[in-house]
Amino acid sequence: MIKIAVIEGDGVGPEIIRGVISILESLIEAEFVFIKAGKKYFYETGLPMEEKGIQKIKESDVLLKGPIATPVRGRTYLSINLRIRREFNLYANVRPFRSYSGISIRKLSTVIVRENTEGLYSGIEEADGEKAIASRIITKRKSEKISEYAFGLAEEEKRERVTAIHKRNILKVSDGLFLETFYEVAKKHPSIAADDAIVDAASYKLVKVDNAFDIMVTPNLYGDILSDVAAGVIGSLGLCGSAQVGDSFAAFEPIHGTAEDIAGRGIANPLGAVIASSLMLTWLGTKNSDLREKGMLVRRAVDDLIERRIALTPDLGGSSTTDDVINALFRLI
Ligand code: ATP
Repeated sequence: MIKIAVIEGDGVGPEIIRGVISILESLIEAEFVFIKAGKKYFYETGLPMEEKGIQKIKESDVLLKGPIATPVRGRTYLSINLRIRREFNLYANVRPFRSYSGISIRKLSTVIVRENTEGLYSGIEEADGEKAIASRIITKRKSEKISEYAFGLAEEEKRERVTAIHKRNILKVSDGLFLETFYEVAKKHPSIAADDAIVDAASYKLVKVDNAFDIMVTPNLYGDILSDVAAGVIGSLGLCGSAQVGDSFAAFEPIHGTAEDIAGRGIANPLGAVIASSLMLTWLGTKNSDLREKGMLVRRAVDDLIERRIALTPDLGGSSTTDDVINALFRLI
């Protein structure tokens, strides 16, 4: 039986993750292992996550996660997200974006493949009261790995082009290394076109032009920001899911944050988390084609629900609740 570690998260996390679990329960045989973590747990115990949390995740096949707030009390607090990424070396953050007519401002079917473990998120910062410095680490090895991942995905999904996003005109050395490595990897994948774009121009193009990109591969920070731009283009942060993938483990979550402004009101859009669960089934499906099929079934139900406007939450201009959306999905799956 598949073992799924679950961190419900903060803010709207528990509301949406519960809905997702009910959908998964109707589709697959799985054991859900709940892990105590997040803001409330931290204020109660002084710990960001229960002590056995990492061990419980290691004993599971995958991790399903809601958004987690990072409460800062003292400067030594390491975010749970960063800890999990490092512990399991989840080097690729993969975020597919698909547009919907009447909801999205542009036509789009793009995947952002973001390096997830280094760049400006190295965690190396120092300050002496006058000056603060953050180290932005780019390594050849990680640039190679993320580029390989992007081209592999292009081949698997029969996509045509991978575009490297950078700012080499300013960050000549670090983004220079990223870009050189990208083109070295591209040579091994001659059937896929490879090009590159400067991050600011890419942001503009994403908003301004239909189908501007196919697969985008980026260092950490650019991918983080571009994902929110792409989410805005397709219509809502609540519509996007992500996979954080390593060589032997992966974690799945919606891309939005804790959305404290709407937490507890039952109106959060659960579709980002549902899409994350479909990515999870697809990832598990590399070893089990039945799961892959179920992942696609969930994704088709989400697309159908949105295209036919069966139940839309307020962020998409509707008046449905989180539960209405989950119930509508049950009928479509
Ligand atoms: P965090 O600090 O946790 O990243 P944030 O408030 O900066 O949180 P989000 O939580 O992503 O960022 O929220 C940004 C905006 O998008 C908020 O107005 C929020 O209500 C909205 N939003 C985010 N997720 C959803 C969702 N699932 N459904 C509806 N609206 C959402």
